[in-house]
Formats: sequence, C-alpha cells, structure tokens
Amino acid sequence: MLPLSQSHLTLLDACPRKYQYVFFDALSGPSTYEQQTTAQWGSQFHLLMQQRSLDLPVELLSQANAEMAASMAALAKAAPEVFEHLPASGDPSEALTFSQSEHRRTLAFGRYLLTVVYDLVVLSSQQGQIFDWKTHQHPPRQSWLQNDWQTRLYLYVLCETTALSPEQLSMTYWFVRLGDAPPSGQEPGFYRFGYSAAQHQQTQRDLQQLTDRLTRMQQQADFPKVAIEKGLCDRCLFNVRCDRAPASAPSPSSPQQLLQAASQLTADSVEEIPL
Ligand code: SF4
Repeated sequence: MLPLSQSHLTLLDACPRKYQYVFFDALSGPSTYEQQTTAQWGSQFHLLMQQRSLDLPVELLSQANAEMAASMAALAKAAPEVFEHLPASGDPSEALTFSQSEHRRTLAFGRYLLTVVYDLVVLSSQQGQIFDWKTHQHPPRQSWLQNDWQTRLYLYVLCETTALSPEQLSMTYWFVRLGDAPPSGQEPGFYRFGYSAAQHQQTQRDLQQLTDRLTRMQQQADFPKVAIEKGLCDRCLFNVRCDRAPASAPSPSSPQQLLQAASQLTADSVEEIPL
C-alpha cells in the first residue's frame, strides 16, 4: 500500500507533475540558510516537547538555546493543559484515557495508507484533541490553515480511528516561536479548529477523488503539469525542467539562483560542447 501523508496530498492537489518529481523521482531543490535554520529549530523544539511529555530531562537541550527555552516556558504559561496532558476544558470529571507525543496513526483508504503523526494527541471518552507545534517565523492565515491538508487529514484520521464523533474533535496549532504572536509578541499564539460531520464527509469525498485520480495517473504513467493560469510555475523550483520559467527571468546570479538552476539540469537540457 502506498503511504499518503499530508505532504503527498498537498503536492498532489497543487500539481501532479511536482508530486511526481518530489515523491517518485526524488528530486528536490536547494534550501536557503534561513530555511535550514528554521527546520533545525523546528525539529529541536519537537524533540524538546517529546522529551518533556515523556518526563525526560530537558535542561541540557533548553540551556543550549535560550530562545527555545523561552518559547517553551511561554507555551507552558499560555497552555498549561498541553503540559499536563489534560483536556483543554480542564474538567476534572473527564477521565483521561490516552495521550502521546509524536503519535503515529495509519488508516487504509482503498489501495493507499493514510498516514499522520500528531505532535501531541490527547484522548478521553468525551473528546479528542490534536496539538501541533508550528515554528515558522510568520504564521499563515487562519482560513488557509483550516483548509490545509494537514488539518483536514489529521482530523479525518482521528475520527475514523476512534469512537469519537466529529464534533468531539479539535485541532490546535500553537505558534511557538516568540515574536510570531500578535499583539505583544511575548506569548505564543494559537488557532483552534473544531470539526463537524459535514466537514468529515467533504474530506472523505475529496480524498476519494484525489486518490482515484492518483491511481489513474499511476496506471497511465502520466502526471500532468498544473494549468499555467494557476500561477504556480513562476516561483516553482522545477520551472526550467517543465519549460515554464518566466520569459523575463534574469539569468541566475546569486549562489541560490545558480544552485536552483543547476538542480534542474537534465541530460536533454545541457547543450553539447563540440570538441
Ligand atoms: S513548474 Fe509548474 S508544472 Fe512544473 S512542477 Fe512546478 S508547478 Fe508543476
């Protein structure tokens, strides 16, 4: 069974050709220094939270990065329920049955295996809460995140793999890097999304449509390029490979641009040098 994560669904939805490049041809573009440091910060923060949830010592890791320690302390203050593994309602009569950091779930969906990894999931007989730590410098718009495949897939899989109804589920994103959260910049911000039966059915239909399409594309070995009108190609890392580079694009000059251009070279696109 082919695993399908939120990243697979997002790319497939945006551009099947890009999905093919990234997941079948294993191509990738260069990342900037800023992207690398943000990714590193993010993975260290996730590790720190996982250690904390397992009651393992976190002092060494947090001492090594004062900003991260401050972010974790601010999150503990803003969201104590996260650290206590209690439901957000704080209702003491509500029995906690399960909570786990970096919790992985899979769900068979036709010939595919929907796969999610929750940063933290807290389940009781009354509700299921998914928590996700976001470490970008600039949080995305709330409406964008609500429709993002991560939100939709994470809630869908939890609903299908527990006895809870959609209305008993929620997903909360915490933007943990200080400075991200308006208005003071001193507290982490959050978005919390509820769920409904109508959203669950819509996600099911969309998943069915997308996976049916993926099956057809695999059978025909044809992953079409996205329509130019969607405006995704100008800034896509693969636009040279797709012959979709903007006509007015200047020749690459910065190391980043040169790396990007080099990463897209193919045997067909390199001009032969006569000897
Ligand atoms: S350049 Fe356009 S068609 Fe090609 S992979 Fe990127 S988004 Fe898809």
